[in-house]
Amino acid sequence: MRDATLLLSREALLHNVARVRALAPQSRVLAMVKAEAYGHGATTTAAFLAPHVDALGVAFLEEALALRDAGIDTPIVLMEGVFNDYELATARAKNMHVMVHQHAQVDMLARHPQGLPLTAWLKVDSGMHRLGFRPDEVPDVYHRLEAMPAVARIVVCSHFAAADDPASPQTEQQFRVMQQLAAALPALPLSLANSAAVLRLPETHHQWVRPGIMLYGSSPFVEESAESLDLKPVMTLVSRVIAVRDIRAGEPVGYSATWAPAEDTRIAVVAIGYGDGYPRHAPSGTPVLINGKRYPLVGRVSMDMITVDIGDDNVQPGDSAVLWGTGLSADEVARHAGTISYELFCRLTSRVSRIWQ
Ligand SMILES: *Cc1c(COP(=O)(O)O)cnc(C)c1O
Repeated sequence: MRDATLLLSREALLHNVARVRALAPQSRVLAMVKAEAYGHGATTTAAFLAPHVDALGVAFLEEALALRDAGIDTPIVLMEGVFNDYELATARAKNMHVMVHQHAQVDMLARHPQGLPLTAWLKVDSGMHRLGFRPDEVPDVYHRLEAMPAVARIVVCSHFAAADDPASPQTEQQFRVMQQLAAALPALPLSLANSAAVLRLPETHHQWVRPGIMLYGSSPFVEESAESLDLKPVMTLVSRVIAVRDIRAGEPVGYSATWAPAEDTRIAVVAIGYGDGYPRHAPSGTPVLINGKRYPLVGRVSMDMITVDIGDDNVQPGDSAVLWGTGLSADEVARHAGTISYELFCRLTSRVSRIWQ
């Protein structure tokens, strides 16, 4: 019997995309659905989002092809661009935009004047130092792209490294770099804002915003809850109690005997583990909701099970458990596990069945 299920809310997804529209009413929306829509399942998520957004963002071609095969015809941006001639030809034939972040990609576009022209997203490294051209290279690259038959339109874009941290001076520095650059180029569509910037930095919204995590109802900020940002969790990870055990004071529970109760207690065993994507590093004390009440996870997370200290409460096998989602924010669970909700979502495995409601 497998009880681990991901309950997915279309209503919450549409609420969150409406939040993006309300926050950035002048901007087009590139909804990020890379990595299986942050673990929510790419094709269904994208199908629900498509009528409400202007484009969908994926990391690489195969992710985009899966959406096209599912009949989704919204423009798709390949956020890492294309890496060979086949990928470029496919992107052009299938209404995909390409990120252009290195010279080899510019040369590839130059070698292929034939075919449908596409939208090139010219990626600027404004300070994150991951992908993109240095600002002083950008005017040259822009003029090359602009003259190419393969390129119909250019969007200039950059990514913030620390927009999730309002105290970081890096965002302001990156923003200034982009403003100077934009002043040196003809008027072009600009795209800078991830979720954090959509929520906090309206001056960065420009022509295209690129929300990811906020669509799924999590907060990009450490110190601010999704609820306070009026975002609704799209996923709720649920499972069931499969056993309830009496444990005496001092008897260790689970692998490596990392936890034992100080007094006699009862343990509920819940059918979820790292084999489903529940984080193995979640320590004792990580909250779990059983029958709507919070209890602490105790002992090590196993592959298929976790153990939860229910004290004297009346919990029965078959009772429902929420690991995160409605009633228990993924951000809080992620903090306990030393990670972020993005990673909790992406690591869910195919063993968890996904049910849209
Ligand atoms: C994933 C991604 C985003 C979305 O970031 P969130 O923090 O999830 O909003 C935006 N821009 C780029 C380039 C990305 O790769």
